[in-house]
Amino acid sequence: MAKQALSIPKLVERIPDDTAAYVFLEGLRWPDGPVCAHCGHDKAYFLNPANGHSRATGKKRTASVRRVWKCAKCRKQFSVLTGTVMHGSKIAVRTWVFVLYEMAASKNGISAREVARKYEITEESAWFLCHRIREAMKRDPLAGLMAGTIVADESFIGGKMKNRHASNRHNTDKWYDKTPIVSLVNKTTGEVRSKVVANVTGATLRSVIRDNVDVPASELHTDEHIGYQRIGREFPEHKSVKHKDGEYVRDGASTNVAESYFAQLKRSIDGTHHNVSVSHLHRYLAEYDFRYNTKKLTDADRMHAIVGGMGGRRLSYEPLRRY
Ligand SMILES: [Zn+2]
Repeated sequence: MAKQALSIPKLVERIPDDTAAYVFLEGLRWPDGPVCAHCGHDKAYFLNPANGHSRATGKKRTASVRRVWKCAKCRKQFSVLTGTVMHGSKIAVRTWVFVLYEMAASKNGISAREVARKYEITEESAWFLCHRIREAMKRDPLAGLMAGTIVADESFIGGKMKNRHASNRHNTDKWYDKTPIVSLVNKTTGEVRSKVVANVTGATLRSVIRDNVDVPASELHTDEHIGYQRIGREFPEHKSVKHKDGEYVRDGASTNVAESYFAQLKRSIDGTHHNVSVSHLHRYLAEYDFRYNTKKLTDADRMHAIVGGMGGRRLSYEPLRRY
């Protein structure tokens, strides 16, 4: 199923209602049949509430679009949404599937405003929906260290002054008004990992690199930024280019892959979202890292990967509101 090329017309045809959306998500999340969200057991019985009678009242239950399963082992009930970022959402499951597809298929992302308009939901709901999907795009926390030729580079993300609220507008648009991020691109495998950081001191760069890279098994490529010198000495080899001298490639080393990643990220943030707040920037980075890391997949496989990443990741409304 996931292998078939997807498109909006195909989705419209395949998913006429919410029940069909449940079936579709079940196929993506459980290709080998339902897995209990509570205990992980792989045998469950389908409960169709539409056919049952309430034990309490004896009356026929009203038909429900939810597809509920009962675990053969722990006897608890669950659905494909249980334990995922979709759990407890009031947004129609069908809308989830369509927005998931759009986020999986678009090159620059989709803004909450656009989602609100297209799917006739409030901008607030759309904003929250998109952030929950970004949450599912985050790298598996158990993913191991990267090994290979690693390009490390830093950049600064920030809205243009004219887009800012007057109280937050300064006379300068220098780097210190922006939020630093560090990206590590593995040239050997094509994987990127980005992180929002407080600063770009040597200590910070070292900790980001050590948390993500198998240092003794890798080679480091950077620019001449002094912050890379100490961590550079811990690698078997550290090559750097001197951008100040107009040097972009030296000894087979360049930071071009990181720079093109940043350029694409900034185009997307400026063009699609116009501005993103610092407190949510890490989720946008998760989205763009995901897109970069899955660029060779089909839209359907990318969607599959997002739904696969949904288990055990719930993002409730309240923690988000506190930002
Ligand atoms: Zn169970």
